[in-house]
Amino acid sequence: MKTLVCEEPLRFVYKESVIPTLAEGEVLIQIKRIGICGTDYHAYQGNQPFFQYPRVLGHELSGVIDGFKLSENVGGLKLGDKVCILPYLSCGSCVACRKGKPNCCTSIQVLGVHTDGGMCEYIKVPEQYVFVDNALSFDQLALVEPLAIGAHGVNNAGIKADEYVAIIGSGPIGLAAINFAQIKGAKIIVVDINQERLNLCKTKFQVEFTINSLEESTVDAIRHITDGDMCDTVIDATGNLNAINSSFHYLAHTGKYILIGLQKGEISFSHPEFHKREATLMSSRNALHSDFDFVLESLKNGSVQAENYITHNVHFDNVADQFDGLAKNPQEVIKAMITF
Ligand SMILES: [Zn+2]
Ligand SMILES: [Zn+2]
Repeated sequence: MKTLVCEEPLRFVYKESVIPTLAEGEVLIQIKRIGICGTDYHAYQGNQPFFQYPRVLGHELSGVIDGFKLSENVGGLKLGDKVCILPYLSCGSCVACRKGKPNCCTSIQVLGVHTDGGMCEYIKVPEQYVFVDNALSFDQLALVEPLAIGAHGVNNAGIKADEYVAIIGSGPIGLAAINFAQIKGAKIIVVDINQERLNLCKTKFQVEFTINSLEESTVDAIRHITDGDMCDTVIDATGNLNAINSSFHYLAHTGKYILIGLQKGEISFSHPEFHKREATLMSSRNALHSDFDFVLESLKNGSVQAENYITHNVHFDNVADQFDGLAKNPQEVIKAMITF
């Protein structure tokens, strides 16, 4: 089968490899779509921390079941079933796994990051990471993973109806957070420096309040919108250190600050300002099985629309040629989808 290998930063090579053979408890999936993620762009550009090469990228995967050797007590899968994959392989025994949070397993292996991913024709995965949904399209199924990251962040925040939620950054994860916070009934304020994205938030996502932080004081604008209260929840989806440090100022007293975005530096903030608010700071990593189930349901009932996210398609054979152009065009690319 054809496999696309990121040999080193800025170099993709197509290689011929063997279709994996299955052990008990494994499912073989023929890949149909691969969403390209910020992580993939960073890995390609060589600025993803702790990344090892060569690596097969790709963790936003959908496809069809092409074979399986299920464990005795597992059933319900059929050849040809349409699936998406939960790409966070966990150990099942560490402190996080024991607490039902395999999303932050101490020895997590994320497909396409810590171990080879799905930029190939077939992948095998343990049966418990396969989600079947024949009612959805391959595009929708490949969006489940990034959407679930947003859904997990929103769930971690414990957002309630009518609360003010500021979402910082309106890339795919920020948009997902907007979608799921809206489902909770929150009043959304989106902050970005990309006016095109902010316009999209208004037109396609019905966001009432947007702030271009290059053009106005975000603190003043939020104070005005919230009638002086500031935000019950702030969600960072930028992974940008300056944005993260600035966003502490957007918190209401009793507010919660959830970091979905990740960067390499040290965060700093005023202890007295944080203390007097009795604020909560929390990170949100990956997603749970329950988040995947909720996202599948949201796609089926139409509360999340795949076409609001997917802006570009590229055939698998052309990824090596076109990846650089996609990586350099964040103005226009929201989610690019690899097709077969
Ligand atoms: Zn991703
Ligand atoms: Zn674990």
